[in-house]
Amino acid sequence: LKVSITPYRNKKEKIAGCIIVMKDMTEIKRIEKMRTDFIANVSHELRTPLTSIRGFVETLIDGAYQDPTLAKRFLKIIEKEVGRLCRLTDNMLDLSRIETNQLKLNIKDVSAEEIIREVMIIFENRLKEKDLTYYEKFQENLPKVKADPDWLRQIFVNLMDNAVKYTPSGGKVWIEAESKGDVVEFRVCDTGAGIPEEDLPRIFERFYRVDKTRSAGSGGSGLGLAIVKHLVKAFGGDIWVESKVNQGSKFIFTLKKA
Ligand code: ADP
Repeated sequence: LKVSITPYRNKKEKIAGCIIVMKDMTEIKRIEKMRTDFIANVSHELRTPLTSIRGFVETLIDGAYQDPTLAKRFLKIIEKEVGRLCRLTDNMLDLSRIETNQLKLNIKDVSAEEIIREVMIIFENRLKEKDLTYYEKFQENLPKVKADPDWLRQIFVNLMDNAVKYTPSGGKVWIEAESKGDVVEFRVCDTGAGIPEEDLPRIFERFYRVDKTRSAGSGGSGLGLAIVKHLVKAFGGDIWVESKVNQGSKFIFTLKKA
């Protein structure tokens, strides 16, 4: 709280009272902290791949380039890290466009079933590699929903990416869809690592991760869920999560019926 007191005088120059101004600084402090946290987070996320790239480039220059097998291995690592940097900057740009309403949304009546079918083609190999079982539990004659098809695809990609990433081999990943009143409810579920109760309220914050060390190696940007949440909100829907450690997670969101 910021307080300032100014006395005021009457015609005889005697103090007749004072003006007290009180300003609640909590919100200003909160925004300031968010800003500095954001810069610290971005710098950290950029630094990790950059440090790795520098290390491998230096080793190559120091002579490793003369060994073709070794050189190729190092260049592959550099390529992967560059990919990570590109994903991170793409995600940051998307998020800032969504947050500042600069994104041109093309909202129309879309069939989520069709979109999910397209998305699952991308995941076929990864599901097989990790020996994960995938299935769908869709209500019959599922109504179309109001959404931008490209960004709805992104929502399912981000949620499925996490489900696959955080579920150990042999587990299950599935999508449920059900009509409820004037919305359709979608649930992206897995039998994976789950999220501790104390982390649940912060899971949709940008750069928030449950296990900083585990996620750092997994190639994620920590922005996936923040993007998903903003998109669902922009479509007029709602999103939340139900999860139990070592049992699995359900990311549930609603979209308005067409
Ligand atoms: P990341 O790129 O780290 O996956 P996200 O924003 O997509 O970033 O997710 C934030 C964090 O939420 C993750 O780092 C992870 O700790 C947790 N998380 C997200 N989805 C799941 C899931 N399906 N199972 C377990 N943990 C999850």
